[in-house]
Amino acid sequence: MELTKKDEEKSLHFIEEIVENDLNSGKYQSIRTRFPPEPNGYLHIGHAKSICLNFGLAKRYGGKTNLRFDDTNPVTEETEYVESIKEDVRWLGFEWANELYASDYFEQLFAFAKDLIKKGLAYVDDNPSEEIARQKGNPTEPGIRNEFADRSVEENLRLFKEMKDGKYGDGEKVLRAKVDMASPNMHLRDPIMYRIKHAAHHRTGNNWCIYPMYDFAHGQSDSIEQITHSICTLEFIPHRPLYDWFIEKLEIFPSKQYEFARLNLTYTIMSKRKLLQLVNEKHVSAWDDPRMPTISGFRRRGYTPESIQMFADKIGVQKRENLIDFSLLEFCIREHLNRVAKRRMVVFDPLKVVITNYTEEFELVQSEENPEDPGAGHRSLFFGREIYIEREDFMENPPKKFFRLAPGQKVRLKSAYIIKCDEVIKGVDGTFEELRCSYIPESRSGSDHSGLKVQGTLHWVSVKHAVPVELRLYDRLFKVEDPSNEDGDFKDYINQESLQIISKAYAEPSLKEAGKEERFQFMRKGYFFLDKESGPGKMVFNRTVTLKDAWAKEQKKS
Ligand code: ATP
Ligand code: MG
Repeated sequence: MELTKKDEEKSLHFIEEIVENDLNSGKYQSIRTRFPPEPNGYLHIGHAKSICLNFGLAKRYGGKTNLRFDDTNPVTEETEYVESIKEDVRWLGFEWANELYASDYFEQLFAFAKDLIKKGLAYVDDNPSEEIARQKGNPTEPGIRNEFADRSVEENLRLFKEMKDGKYGDGEKVLRAKVDMASPNMHLRDPIMYRIKHAAHHRTGNNWCIYPMYDFAHGQSDSIEQITHSICTLEFIPHRPLYDWFIEKLEIFPSKQYEFARLNLTYTIMSKRKLLQLVNEKHVSAWDDPRMPTISGFRRRGYTPESIQMFADKIGVQKRENLIDFSLLEFCIREHLNRVAKRRMVVFDPLKVVITNYTEEFELVQSEENPEDPGAGHRSLFFGREIYIEREDFMENPPKKFFRLAPGQKVRLKSAYIIKCDEVIKGVDGTFEELRCSYIPESRSGSDHSGLKVQGTLHWVSVKHAVPVELRLYDRLFKVEDPSNEDGDFKDYINQESLQIISKAYAEPSLKEAGKEERFQFMRKGYFFLDKESGPGKMVFNRTVTLKDAWAKEQKKS
C-alpha cells in the first residue's frame, strides 16, 4: 500500500524509531525482518498485525522480509497450514524475499549445540522433566545444579550424538545450556535446548528424533538469516536475555529482538489453539468460516486486504497490551467498501406490489453503480407492473415519521417512480399478501417533473426478473467482550445466534453475473460478498458488514 501524505506526517512508532536510528547511525546499511509463524493453524487477524509490521518496515525502509516457518514441533505442524499461511500473506499484499523453514537449519542447529558443548556451555541431563522443574526452584529461590552438569565435554558429545541416533526414548535425556541456576529470570536457569521426540516431522520425516526448543531455534534462525530486527510479542521479553546469550556464546550474527503488544480484539479470541477447538468441535464450519477471526475467514466474509492494512495502521504499535474494539475493524471495511462496492437491490423478505395503472409489461431504468465513484457508471434495471418491496417497508397503521409505504402514502422507488399505496390485500390470517399501488408517470428518476416531494426511497426488484439468492448474515462469534478472560470455558460464551440464513431473497438480475472478487452493497442492507459455496443455480452471499454500527446502538440501549 502506498504511503499517503497523511501517513508520512504521522509520528513514528517506537520500532520505526529504532530502525531509523540504526540506519542513521550506520549500524546497518539496510534492514532485514522476518515473519515467523508456526504452521500449527491458520493465521488470525493478530498475525495480520505482525505481518503488516514486519513487511511494512522492510517496505518503508527498503529492506527485506523473510517468511520463515517456525516448524520445530513435529506433532502439531502440517503442510496444509503452510499453504494457507502463504496464501494469506500474499492476499494481504506482501511478498517475501525468501521462503524458509527452521527445520532446514536442523543440521546447523545441531552443530551449534555441539559447539556450545565443546565450550563447556551445554550438558546432557538424564533427569525426567518433573525433576528438572523441581530443581529449577522458583523465582525467589535459587535452583540446584545437579551432578549431570559436571559431565565432561567428551561424554556430553557422545550422549548428544546417541540422543540424535535414537538410542533413547522420549524424555529420557535432554540437552541443557549451562547458564545460571540462580538467575531471577527462570528462563536462564539452565534452559532445555533439545528434547527427544520420536515423531515424524512434516518436512524432515523421520530423519530426526531430537528437536530444538523455541529458545534454541528462533534466535539462531534469525542469526543465520542475518535478521537485523527480530520483532515478537511482549511475552518474549523474559526470553530476550537468553536470545542474546546464545548468540553471544556462539559468536554468530548479532540479531536483536524487539517486542510489541499483541492484538486483542473484542468479541473474539486470538489463539490458534482455541480457534482449532472451535473448528474441531464444529462450533464453526471451518477455519475460514466467515465468523472466524482468521485472515481466511475475513477474506471469505468479504473483507479486503486494504481494510485490514488500514486497521493495522490505525491501531499502531504499542508496548502495552490492550483490547481493540471490533467496531474499529468494521469501520475500516465500511470505509473501503463504501468507495468500491457496486450498489445492488436485493429484497430480503418480499411483499408483492402491483402497480395497477402501469400498462407496459416492463421498461429499463438506469441506476448508479456507485454514487461515491462517478466513473463507475450505471447499470440497467427492469421495472415492471409487479415488484417486490421489503415487508418491513410497509405498515398499515404507521406511526408519525414512518416515511415508507402505508395506505394513502407516497414513496419513491429507487431509480424509478413515486408510487402511492391504494389498497392492501390480506390473507385469511390477516397477513399482507399484496399491495395495490399507482405510480406517477411524471416522477421518473432523472426526469422528474411531478413537483412531488417524498421523504422515503425504497429498494425493490421486478417480480418477473428477480433472481433468488441465499444470504448469510453474521453476528459476533461471542456474547462477551473478552471471552478468554471470563470464568469457565471460553466456549460457554459462544453466541448461538451468530449465523442467520435467509434461504431465499430476491435480487436484481445483474447479480447473476457477480464475480468472485466483486464487492457489493445491497442498498439499505449492508455489504455482501459471493461465498465459495455458490455454484450453478445457487448463489450464496455473505454479509461482510452492516451499513451502520447497529451493535454500538444496541449496547447503549442495554
Ligand atoms: P497463537 O498463540 O495464536 O498460536 P503464536 O504467537 O503462537 O500465536 P506464531 O505462529 O508463533 O503464533 O506467531 C507468528 C508471529 O505472529 C509471531 O511473531 C507472533 O508474535 C505474532 N503474533 C501472534 N499472535 C499475535 C497477535 N495477537 N498480535 C500480534 N502479533 C501476533
Ligand atoms: Mg507460537
